[in-house]
Amino acid sequence: MVTLNDILEGVKAYHPEADLDIIKHAYEFSAQRHAKQTRRTGEPFLIHPIEVAMILVHLKLDVASIAAGLLHDTVEDTHVTLEEVEKEFGPAIANLVDGLTKLSKLSFRTSREKQAENFRKMILAMAKDIRVILIKLADRLHNMRTLEALAEEKQQRIAQETLEIYAPLANRLGISWIKSELEDLSLRYLKPDMYYRLVQQVAKKKKEREKYIELVRNIISEKLSQYNIHSEVSGRSKHLYSVYKKMEKQHIDFEHVYDLIAFRILVETLPQCYETLGIIHSVWTPVPGRFKDYIAMPKANRYQSLHTTVIGPYGERIEIQIRTKEMHNIAEEGIAAHWKYKEGEINKYDEERFKWLRALTEWQKELKDPSEFLETLRIDLFDEEVYVFTPRGDVKEFPKGATPIDFAYAVHTDVGNHCVGAKVNGRIVPLKYKLKSGDTIEIVTNESRHPSKDWLDLVVTSRAKAKIRSYIKGQEREEGAEIGRSILAKELRRGGYSPTRYLTSGHLTEAAQKLKLESPEDVLIKVGYGFFTPAEVIRIFLPDFKHAEAKKGEREEKSGIISKILQGTKAPLSLRKDAIAVKGVGQVLIRVARCCTPLPGDPVSGFVTRGRGVTVHRADCSLLLSHDAERKVDVEWSETRELRRNIKIKVICADKPGLLMEMSNVFTSNSINIANARVRTTHDKKAINIFEVTVSDASQVKKILKQLEKIEGVVSAARL
Ligand code: MN
Repeated sequence: MVTLNDILEGVKAYHPEADLDIIKHAYEFSAQRHAKQTRRTGEPFLIHPIEVAMILVHLKLDVASIAAGLLHDTVEDTHVTLEEVEKEFGPAIANLVDGLTKLSKLSFRTSREKQAENFRKMILAMAKDIRVILIKLADRLHNMRTLEALAEEKQQRIAQETLEIYAPLANRLGISWIKSELEDLSLRYLKPDMYYRLVQQVAKKKKEREKYIELVRNIISEKLSQYNIHSEVSGRSKHLYSVYKKMEKQHIDFEHVYDLIAFRILVETLPQCYETLGIIHSVWTPVPGRFKDYIAMPKANRYQSLHTTVIGPYGERIEIQIRTKEMHNIAEEGIAAHWKYKEGEINKYDEERFKWLRALTEWQKELKDPSEFLETLRIDLFDEEVYVFTPRGDVKEFPKGATPIDFAYAVHTDVGNHCVGAKVNGRIVPLKYKLKSGDTIEIVTNESRHPSKDWLDLVVTSRAKAKIRSYIKGQEREEGAEIGRSILAKELRRGGYSPTRYLTSGHLTEAAQKLKLESPEDVLIKVGYGFFTPAEVIRIFLPDFKHAEAKKGEREEKSGIISKILQGTKAPLSLRKDAIAVKGVGQVLIRVARCCTPLPGDPVSGFVTRGRGVTVHRADCSLLLSHDAERKVDVEWSETRELRRNIKIKVICADKPGLLMEMSNVFTSNSINIANARVRTTHDKKAINIFEVTVSDASQVKKILKQLEKIEGVVSAARL
């Protein structure tokens, strides 16, 4: 049984200056708090944290990690609070314990492959400190070693989770001995028959195997020493799980797994690796396609080695790995091997994903003590992604910065299109909330609500963007079709025909075919957008149609560019109820731009579209400025008519009660109707209020903005 002394001696061996008192204190604290608790095995509970700490000693971790290993179950399983841990051991250790407590609450619920991968990433993303994961792996390893005491159902679940989540996690961090042990232990509980049969079969051939290993070792060592290469050659059975996988994959039984034994040659320098490879290939014939150079191209977990398979002395396949001792240590301990090398180059790895490892090799040159080193070691490996749960426990992956709207569209287009709000971990959040790893998201929908253009600024996934755009586009088509229909109706009426009689789907279908458009709706849209004149379309089903002459006087004021539009529309049109007259242009189709909603009194400018008339923008509208200068026309308000429009006003203020009331008083006292109001709060205790109000002119707006800004607590008020 492991004792406190084993732990202390172990730490001293690799870190002579370590502050062992912290470890002793953690031991006593844990012993006291877990007193009287027993494990399923019947042993005192304390054995578990001690064993976990000892595994961390094997990984040569720092004092804080080992103390946290001893304390890792105190907050989860006893009455100890995190505050208490912090008071006793300081924030660094408390943070580690907190991370472990949080991870222990995650439970892996489904077994689909993609889920497992996301889950692993989520664990990495949540545990910001890599030590949390190393301690978690040690915890899981000891639990797997003592899994026998649990009920079968639980054994299965835990073994499955270990195989899908924790063994790959150990592999990703490059700690191969933990990965192998976790895999073998999982196999033991998931496929006990297979496991014990393999154990027996491997044992039966033990003598034979040892003789064989000896023979191959001697051949290799002798050959290499002829070339003055000093080497350590070892041969070992592959771990059971990898034998099992091989049998499964190749559909063969145990007798036919030839490369059961893997040989490893450790040499002193990197060039010797390649030299050794050449020598091996001159002794035994290599199997084509089996050579891999992980030295020139290391694996993502930084594993480096040369791999080859050759035909051995009895015509059997032998797998051989060649590497330096330093590469070997990294292969065995992965990330944990790092701080043992004060100098020594680490080769290039996957630049993007392992940036942190590069930074780390820089730091470690300056650091003397592993704890310092470890504390700076943060995982930003998956910083670009967040992993969140659906209410049913599925994991979904999003790019960083994603909001509930992205989530809603990932669930279903309909959910996205009717999304009105979201709950994160049971609490209501604004739609601009940025998802965090580990959040459980629930979307609130309302059938009568629809996407708006500003959602495009809130979403980051291309799926959500595309869906919102397609919704808006659909809406624009509807509008276009509506305008087209009324243009055609007016033209028919003017010519003395009944729109209801002639604007039928039969006629429009005929027009669509003739104009090579997909649907009758497209015909309306094309007319609405001015691609075709109404007369062009009507003549398709009414060949005799002559459009009526415009009444005298109506076109008198046309000039220049305007005449060009009028050629398309001929008759003056005023489609929108709120169309406004603009001086100098006469009666022409006027549309008020939606981007800047100009009001009488605002400086304005017009933009010409053929067949669509003039669109009036505010003179400072950025959209207008980006347009072709040639199509701009000077316009001005001819008279101030009674015109009511909705505009948006943005007020930024302190997030405190009562202010909203004061602000709405400003509107009501000016007899201004609030059509819609939205309030969002920011992390810096500000509130952003968007009021949609109905106003009739610009001076009215100026007045309320002034009044709003006078309210104490209001930072700014502006028209959107
Ligand atoms: Mn534990």
